[in-house]
Amino acid sequence: MALLIETGLSDWISDNDIAREVQRLYPGTDVRTPSTLGDPSDITMVAVVGLNDDHPKRLPNLQLVQKLGAGVETIVGNPNLPVHVRVTRLKPDAPAQGIAEWFVAYVLRHQRHMTFHEAAQRRAEWVPKAPIYSPDTVVGVLGLGHIGSRSARMLHSVGFRVMGWSRSPKQIDGVTCLHGDAALPELLGQCDHVCAILPSTPQTVGLFDAKMLAVMKPGSQLLNAGRGDLIDEDALITALDNGTPGHAVLDVTTTEPLPSDNPLWAHPGVTITPHVSGWHLGEALADVGENFQRLKAGAPLLHEVDRARGY
Ligand code: NDP
Repeated sequence: MALLIETGLSDWISDNDIAREVQRLYPGTDVRTPSTLGDPSDITMVAVVGLNDDHPKRLPNLQLVQKLGAGVETIVGNPNLPVHVRVTRLKPDAPAQGIAEWFVAYVLRHQRHMTFHEAAQRRAEWVPKAPIYSPDTVVGVLGLGHIGSRSARMLHSVGFRVMGWSRSPKQIDGVTCLHGDAALPELLGQCDHVCAILPSTPQTVGLFDAKMLAVMKPGSQLLNAGRGDLIDEDALITALDNGTPGHAVLDVTTTEPLPSDNPLWAHPGVTITPHVSGWHLGEALADVGENFQRLKAGAPLLHEVDRARGY
């Protein structure tokens, strides 16, 4: 039984770095990378960012796919992945902290008119402009899982009125929690900022179409750190042109990297960050080695995904 690390990325963390960390934490583990693969039939677990179509064909004894992150849509949605192959994701603590900070930062940027004051400074102009009072501001958080619940708590602790939305009922101190499809327009109509941190599933893809964008509060801000396919980007541009919502802050887009000729780049109502809100993994790489040991021992896996539900 061997563990293959295959991120396919060059701008984040290397396969060798992950392999070294797993071997440091679990000495003696048979960890391979594409350059040290050997016999593909040895591989029982693969750690990936996204699953290639040929992984299941190349690795005939695959039992577990470990996502090096949280969003598993390219894995659970892969039609070539045999039904017996299990899927796990990483512990979300470090990305949850980062994403909650990202939401707080971009909500506060708006509240405190930061871009306005920076522009005024460059003109050497002293222009007082009243900040928006946080206790009068309603912030909605869509998705109240590991990351959304942490974000909702952090936003509440800053002083905002916080509403949350999920599929099933939730209780979070200080947060007004709604659930189910019918409750979403009700929430959107009340929020000055909407922070989306939903997984990509058949139910969430395209959820923010022209009709849903139109029920947001005029001038409100839509922030998305979940997955880009939540939003119909053509409809978003039209909606921004009409002022509802007034601004969008996108850490994720339908196509990543976002092509340089995409109109989102130049739109004055759009701020883009390149999928960096949940950058840090913290201690989560330990999950990779731990799940490999658990797989070998037949023990319950850490952070196993419900393949049928999609997250
Ligand atoms: P979780 O699985 O812990 O939580 C998902 C939440 O979304 C749950 O509250 C769930 O509701 C809710 N949800 C799912 N489907 C629906 C629906 N149809 N209607 C209403 N609510 C729904 O995930 P995480 O919080 O850990 O992560 C969320 C997503 O964030 C990931 O799937 C990933 O795509 C993205 N992500 C982005 C990162 C970045 O760097 N930008 C980094 C990490 C993650 P319920 O609780 O009722 O099941």
